[in-house]
Amino acid sequence: MQMIIDGKNTDAIGGQSLQVLSPNDGKAFETIPRGRKADVDLAVKAARQALSGAWGELTALERGRLMIQLGQKILENHEELAQLESRDTGKPISTSRADISALARYFEFYGGGADKVHGQTIPFLNDYAVQLVREPLGVTAHIIPWNYPAQMFGRSAAPALAMGNAIVVKPAEDACLSVLRAAELAQEIGFPPGAINIVTGLGHEAGAALSQHPDINFISFTGSNEVGVLIQQAAAVNAVKCTLELGGKSAHIVFEDANVERAIPAIVKGVVYNTGQTCTAGSRLLVQRSIFDDFMVRLAEEFSKTRAGTPDMDLTCGPVVNKDQFDRVNHYVDQGRKDGLKIVAQGTIADGVPAGGYFVTPTLFSAPDHSSCLLSDEIFGPVLVAVPFDTEAEAVALSNATSYGLMGAVWTENGGRQQRVAKGMQAGQVYINSFGAGGGIELPFGGVKRSGHGREKGFIALEEMSTTKTIINFHGE
Ligand code: NAP
Ligand code: MG
Repeated sequence: MQMIIDGKNTDAIGGQSLQVLSPNDGKAFETIPRGRKADVDLAVKAARQALSGAWGELTALERGRLMIQLGQKILENHEELAQLESRDTGKPISTSRADISALARYFEFYGGGADKVHGQTIPFLNDYAVQLVREPLGVTAHIIPWNYPAQMFGRSAAPALAMGNAIVVKPAEDACLSVLRAAELAQEIGFPPGAINIVTGLGHEAGAALSQHPDINFISFTGSNEVGVLIQQAAAVNAVKCTLELGGKSAHIVFEDANVERAIPAIVKGVVYNTGQTCTAGSRLLVQRSIFDDFMVRLAEEFSKTRAGTPDMDLTCGPVVNKDQFDRVNHYVDQGRKDGLKIVAQGTIADGVPAGGYFVTPTLFSAPDHSSCLLSDEIFGPVLVAVPFDTEAEAVALSNATSYGLMGAVWTENGGRQQRVAKGMQAGQVYINSFGAGGGIELPFGGVKRSGHGREKGFIALEEMSTTKTIINFHGE
């Protein structure tokens, strides 16, 4: 497949390409251009020109209409995009279908929002009229990860486009095909050239060149803490704003009065879905000691039903994305054993998966306390560790005993406790008696602590991806 720069499908200027490997069997099935600094330069230039050209001239209504049309076009090509996503990432086909539906919804939601962000008038001195108007930031850079390529594209690109920015996207080398195809569809329905540019390539080449480019005005990044630091440094040099979404180590807190029937499937799904490669995975489980043993028996029963297989088998989860993730997850499972954690249950890898695929066994541990690195490190795999607690205060303290702060969940029927614990948890989102349900495009999302800063999703993203201008008008004589 090719990159998209200035409305055209293009190869890398350097002529090099990268192989795309399937996580299902580890084999190459496609190539993508290996874009570098020169390609990023072209893309940023095209975006800049779009702002002062056809894209910049559109009204908010017209931008929104194009975006809604793109949402429709994505739905018309839904199955093709879902198959591509599964091939690229190894996701079970029903997961990819849900992701492509979410991609369409991002363009519909933010397309509908484009003409609904209003400015303000501000009371000031006599003989003054003051307006606060909202303006695009300019050229926005979007560096997105491989775990939800299509959804991350929608989440990052759609609010930026709605506010009239022109975008340059660097999707992950490991999974970018659905992003390329969606951007092609955008060209087909008439997005002006340069409004949406996609540069494929390696992080330390194309990604670094984009984040350091002197003519970008904003960076949206989702990925690892290590790269997040580099992004923030690059943003500092050019004095541009960035949003960082750097993952998490989210905890469920289950009290003795919890609705166990409801909690158990949500807890299992919350860590196994997408093979645990979800920033908001509920990877820590804190259970009140009075119910711990019984709860673990029932949880083990549900957890042991999880099965990993190829996309067309459409089981609980697929393989992990690449060899690095495969080694990483297996390393942590070994480390858990070495740390003396008890394996309470494991899922299975389905018979007949191809040799060379990156399939890992979903694993449920229990730990006597919160000291193992399995409770502090983001594993990014289907690995859950349960720890008992005694009091509400201890539960909240344990949930906060991590450098991350992305999401949390509290399971209790006690209304006062629901509110106290939700307020006490250091996280950007807290669920009460549910977890990560329904995608939540409408719901502001982002982290505290080392999970990053800035907010995406919801209407708040339209504010993040725009700036204000205060116009002070003296109208006295
Ligand atoms: P990563 O390196 O942070 O990759 C995220 C994105 O940043 C990719 O597009 C990547 O490009 C790009 N990138 C890499 N180096 C860069 C640089 N120097 N400058 C600019 N961009 C750069 O993450 P990863 O190595 O794929 O995954 C490692 C770990 O990160 C995972 O195990 C997980 O713990 C965490 N992670 C978190 C999330 C999340 O949703 N918060 C998502 C993915 C990973 P290339 O991939 O093409 O090199
Ligand atoms: Mg990397």
